[in-house]
Amino acid sequence: MARYTGSVCRLCRRENLKLFLKGDRCYSDKCGFDRRGYPPGQHGQRRGRKVSDYGIQLREKQKIKRMYGLTEKQFHLFFVRAERQRGITGTNLLVMLERRLDNVVYRLGFVNSRTQGRHLVRHNHFRINEKKVNIPSYLINEGDVIQPSEKSAKLQIITDAMEAVVRRGIPQWLDLDKEAVKGIVKSMPVREDLTMPMQEQLIVELYSK
Ligand code: SF4
Repeated sequence: MARYTGSVCRLCRRENLKLFLKGDRCYSDKCGFDRRGYPPGQHGQRRGRKVSDYGIQLREKQKIKRMYGLTEKQFHLFFVRAERQRGITGTNLLVMLERRLDNVVYRLGFVNSRTQGRHLVRHNHFRINEKKVNIPSYLINEGDVIQPSEKSAKLQIITDAMEAVVRRGIPQWLDLDKEAVKGIVKSMPVREDLTMPMQEQLIVELYSK
């Protein structure tokens, strides 16, 4: 599937927000956004451009889509599923994105970014309730136990990530047993657990045009 292969730091600069797409680098003084906190491109430093309502909605959708590393098609499919569920569509969408396995292994600190998570999930490094799952979009449920396979738990990429997770912390809906290299879903994530600035109703407005 087509995937963005350009500089991911450009995406943070475009969305005017640190999206934490590059693991360790995001916390270092090499962060592209910290160094050049203006939009990329020739006119990036131009000020005072008026943005239409559509433009604001589009940026919000792009921001969240990029944060979770999805293509337009994948993101839209999630939106359609969110719409079919009971409750508030925008909240449903964010909660579903948060339940994706590639996100959960990132939140648990087994990897340093969602991209890394997706890669390792696809390559069969993780188990859910002791069963092999290699689908990054798999949605975890309350009570699920997520862990790397015995062999994978020794991979440097995972041990390094587990050292580094202290910096960003583990959300309260998850629990990590560092000794056993095992994560448990204590409860389903709720909107309040998502602390990045996100205005999901703008996405609902955008897609309902
Ligand atoms: Fe974004 Fe900074 Fe991480 Fe690059 S290093 S992805 S600019 S947060």
